[in-house]
Amino acid sequence: MKQYRLLILFVVMVAATSATIAQNAESARRTLDIYYVDVEGGAATLIVTPAGESILIDAGWPGFEGRDAKRIEQAMKAAGITAIDHLITTHYHTDHYGGVPELAKRVKVNRFYDHGPMTSLEEDKEFEAKYAAYRAAAKNQTITLNPGSSIRLKQAPQRPPVFLQVLAARGETVTSKRLAVEPNGECSAATQQAEDKSDNARSVAFLLRHGAFNFLDTGDLTWNVEHKLVCPQDMIGEVVLYQVAHHGADSSNNPAMLRSIKPMVAIMNNGPRKGGHPNTVKALRESSKLKDLWQVHRNVTSSAEQNAPEEFIANLDEQNDAAHMIRVSVDAAKRTFTVTNDRNGKSKSYEIK
Ligand SMILES: [Zn+2]
Repeated sequence: MKQYRLLILFVVMVAATSATIAQNAESARRTLDIYYVDVEGGAATLIVTPAGESILIDAGWPGFEGRDAKRIEQAMKAAGITAIDHLITTHYHTDHYGGVPELAKRVKVNRFYDHGPMTSLEEDKEFEAKYAAYRAAAKNQTITLNPGSSIRLKQAPQRPPVFLQVLAARGETVTSKRLAVEPNGECSAATQQAEDKSDNARSVAFLLRHGAFNFLDTGDLTWNVEHKLVCPQDMIGEVVLYQVAHHGADSSNNPAMLRSIKPMVAIMNNGPRKGGHPNTVKALRESSKLKDLWQVHRNVTSSAEQNAPEEFIANLDEQNDAAHMIRVSVDAAKRTFTVTNDRNGKSKSYEIK
């Protein structure tokens, strides 16, 4: 009888030990994941860190019976999270913050960040009502992001740290912290455009770093502020993953910035008839380190050559769109990341040099 008890104890101990090992392996395996939610030419990018913390950048459009909030919820489900820890609104345009009230009704949002309070917006006659709905969703508790601000994130044991640093907000950019840095040679051919007085120019732009991997999201930031970020000194540096600014519009994506950041992979959250401008696609292809461009939608107004190869496009049709996502999974310890097209299961891995 005593022997039996010992045997049972032994079996229980072995089982407990292997469960612990499995759990440790599970937590050590955690990647940094990015989900490009299809919000039909708006923006909603969900980031889940190796520590399981979530950051949502923009929340898509309002209306359509909560379509975008529901799609974000689906991405959250796929990521295994139930709340948004940090919601960053890049700027106050409907395709970016219009979906916030509906999302906040459906899921818990812990913190709201934006570029600061606004009283009016020339380009949006309905601004007052939309902004009031946003403020109400945030219970009037928002955190203003400034150039140089960072968001404190939890770190996972045995994983490279994750940092999020704001590079631009309200049209202001980070100032030189690297005075010794030489002037950027890409600036000699750089051009300026007429001043953009819209809220696009006030977009929050940030760089997320995780070991050798980094990710640049500039919202809908336009030409002249992009110029300020890289000229006369490059305040960004080389970028591994680039969210193509402003859905691929060519009033953004200043070639001087693209040539400076030299993205390895670019993901464009364009709509079937919004963004994805051929000039932007061309400028991206001309940047020296670009391996691939992925698109949330096919631009139906451009030729096949002016779009990414079909296998890298998540949604091909204009109508009855199934809202496929593009996912990115980063294993920083192995210096690799994989991009997956949910429509066809096409996956491609990239090594971070
Ligand atoms: Zn936009």
